[in-house]
Amino acid sequence: MTNPSPITKSDFLRYLECPAYFWFFKKKPEVLAEQELSDFDKELIKNGKEVELWARKLFPRGVLVNSREAAAVKETQKLLAEENKAIFQATFQAENLYAMVDILEWDESLGHWIINEVKATSSKEKKKEEQLYDATFQYIVAKKAGLDVGRVNLIELNKEFRKHGGIKPRELLQITDITEKVKEREKEVQLMIPHLQRMIENEKEPLPCDCIYKSRNNHCPAFKYLYPDVPDYSVHDIVRIGNSLKRLEGLVESGHYALEDVPEDFELTKYQRNHVQVAQSKIPIIKHQEILETLDELEYPLYFLDYETYPTAVPIYDGCAPYQQVPFQFSLHALRAPHEALEHYEYLHTDPDAHPMIALANNLTKMIGQEGNIIVWNKKFEEKCNEDLADLMPDCAESFRDYNQRLFDLMEIFSKQLYLHPDFKGGFSIKDVLPVLVPQMSYANLNVRDGSMAMNAWKKMMFEAVNEQEKEQLKKDLLEYCKLDTLAMVKIFEVLHSIPPPLPPSLHSV
Ligand code: SF4
Repeated sequence: MTNPSPITKSDFLRYLECPAYFWFFKKKPEVLAEQELSDFDKELIKNGKEVELWARKLFPRGVLVNSREAAAVKETQKLLAEENKAIFQATFQAENLYAMVDILEWDESLGHWIINEVKATSSKEKKKEEQLYDATFQYIVAKKAGLDVGRVNLIELNKEFRKHGGIKPRELLQITDITEKVKEREKEVQLMIPHLQRMIENEKEPLPCDCIYKSRNNHCPAFKYLYPDVPDYSVHDIVRIGNSLKRLEGLVESGHYALEDVPEDFELTKYQRNHVQVAQSKIPIIKHQEILETLDELEYPLYFLDYETYPTAVPIYDGCAPYQQVPFQFSLHALRAPHEALEHYEYLHTDPDAHPMIALANNLTKMIGQEGNIIVWNKKFEEKCNEDLADLMPDCAESFRDYNQRLFDLMEIFSKQLYLHPDFKGGFSIKDVLPVLVPQMSYANLNVRDGSMAMNAWKKMMFEAVNEQEKEQLKKDLLEYCKLDTLAMVKIFEVLHSIPPPLPPSLHSV
């Protein structure tokens, strides 16, 4: 009989996410056709590693297990036999289960081992639950392997931390004893393990997969393989359908997958019905009067503003918190009065010795006057950046708080469906709207095409060994991208302003 396939902690987490996904990952990975990691995912992994390195500083006598898989199990046993008091990446095997403990610590006073699980996370409840199951899996495997585990800790970022000078790991990180919570889940995880083991012994695909009843953002790449009859743009994409799962179930059960097939009398919310209606009729909904009334309330000069930001788990700059969005660039288009020439201002931080937020704020406050609306796309983001800039710089606080009073979110014209086009396909990001309203403008030819790419380009320019020529290219790419974001808003604004009013009913019949 062949040895059963090993089950790692990552496999267990996949199983928790979705048992069917776990099966495909282990038995038919070609179906998942995993794409290359996005810049955003790569940054998450980098953050995780960095926080782990900081956590290791809490255990100065710790030793690292350098090998992987079966060799790591042997190396861990050797380090245990040598009576090391802290072992990083201690690896255990029991039956076909493998678990790697971030930091294993010997508790001298109580005479038992402590599992320290390190997470570079904020404290979102869903994530917390996943972390507890993750730690429980390690606890079970280490105990099965014969280790006397007395406690389990979670080491994570302290969200109250603000950097001031050098970082002290005891201030950056907080340690929480989660032993009781782990024990509460122990039995449940013990019962899951044989199920995982049986699943991978089974060659049959685990159907049915219940994502057919969930909105698109829940689907993994196996969905297309499992449901070839469901179109790429389907009832799973109806706006906010994730909040109306009964409705989605009703559509699926009656075999209505394409938006074109949704019956006229099928109950949907107003927003959902509008979305389906434009998809079926291919005729946009344009609330001309409401759009004009909204835009008429804007006060000139109009400033079209966009920030690019760089968040890191471990803050780089003084006054910043873990994962704070640090603005390093802005683009600002100013329109002093209707039909006047458009002005453009920009700032990109390139000085490695200066604080980007301070330099950016000093530049921006010179460009924005005391009157007029500030137009952004998705105002929550700029609002938070302005709050952070105000907190960091008391001298500019009044200006940034005032900017927040003057923000106007151009995206709301689309998110509130005052303008709804079939080609938006239910989306309302600037990248969904621009190609429809201003087809001659595009991000496609730029080297930097989205916020994650901008973040990466800036990181490379500032912190990596690049030559002057590369640096100049990155600078150019960043400036082009951010400028296009604000110019795109200007052009969308112009299109909205020039929408012809609908013909009066009498003229329709002429
Ligand atoms: S599509 Fe959804 S339910 Fe199906 S395997 Fe993927 S994640 Fe699981």
